Amino acid sequence: MIAPASPSGTTGTSVTLPVPAMPRVRKDPSEIRSPEGVEKKVLLAAPRGYCAGVDRAVITVEKALEHYGSPVYVRKEIVHNRHVVDTLSAQGAIFVDETDEVPEGERVVFSAHGVSPAVHSEAAERNLATIDATCPLVTKVHKEAVRFARDGYTIILVGHAGHEEVEGTMGEAPEAIVLVQNPEEARTVEIPETGKLVWISQTTLSVDETMQTVDILKERFPALTSPPSDDICYATQNRQVAVKKLAPGADLVLVVGSANSSNSVRLVEVALEHGAKAAHRVDFAREVDEEWFHDVATVGVTSGASVPESLVQDLLKLLADYGFTTVEEVKTAEEDLMFSLPRELRSDLKKAGLKTSNKKDGADRDHELR
Ligand code: SF4
Repeated sequence: MIAPASPSGTTGTSVTLPVPAMPRVRKDPSEIRSPEGVEKKVLLAAPRGYCAGVDRAVITVEKALEHYGSPVYVRKEIVHNRHVVDTLSAQGAIFVDETDEVPEGERVVFSAHGVSPAVHSEAAERNLATIDATCPLVTKVHKEAVRFARDGYTIILVGHAGHEEVEGTMGEAPEAIVLVQNPEEARTVEIPETGKLVWISQTTLSVDETMQTVDILKERFPALTSPPSDDICYATQNRQVAVKKLAPGADLVLVVGSANSSNSVRLVEVALEHGAKAAHRVDFAREVDEEWFHDVATVGVTSGASVPESLVQDLLKLLADYGFTTVEEVKTAEEDLMFSLPRELRSDLKKAGLKTSNKKDGADRDHELR
């Protein structure tokens, strides 16, 4: 089990959130060496934070709790963000690692990262009611894997071993898929003799590193064909483009996101590769080490695709305390994609005469999961 249940959190009018770790005793801002005669400022990436797949997955759990009541089981972290998981736990969601931890006949939500067909079968055997919150852009990759395998291709999946999305995709056609994690593995991987070879990828990788990996594979296997469209999703790409733009002008880049969030970790790497003098990932503003601010005039700020905006605002408040009061937005794209709620949930909400929109209370969602 990933997080303890707090079913009582759903019944009262107020929700008790987990007690956060005590913040460290902070330095006085005057103890930080400031650069002489240079204005301190923040370059704030846009887009940043929640993508359409994460938004849909989080609302799915919230609406499931509202409609069915607690407990609602969730297989794996619904999205890779500590704050989101802790908050939903406090509202009555019970996070488990595997479906066999869910009591027979109960309801389970599958996370945004997707599951293999074997997980669907296990859930059916246990008579579980399932709600599949797999991001539609992950489902697209699953469908590609199924189609290419059916058409006799050997599939090279570029992705990271052990990531839930990769496990789910590989489970669609385990006999046909070979995992390649990086350029080093592309140089040494052995591929079974086949006339048909195609690559697909995890949705949350570094665009540049993936293309390096694919270039090496293409040199070694000239028959390698590409998928019809990008598998690295729009949100991952957009957040990387924005951080590439601000990184050359930043002494320090701070990425809000969890350690197990692939796209958040990639943002730190991309910032460093594109000129940031330093870059760090934090889950919460309280994790920032003020030593990082010495001689820093410009701080770049962004957040991964599973991060509520409230956590970025907390970081901006902390930065303001240290004199970084000017905030300039670095905008590289507009995003307005929205996915409808999972079919099973929509159907139950509709039968009950309830709204099936994934907008909370009809309002635009800014996801203040506090
Ligand atoms: S990061 Fe991309 S693939 Fe993952 S949930 Fe968001 S939109 Fe979907």
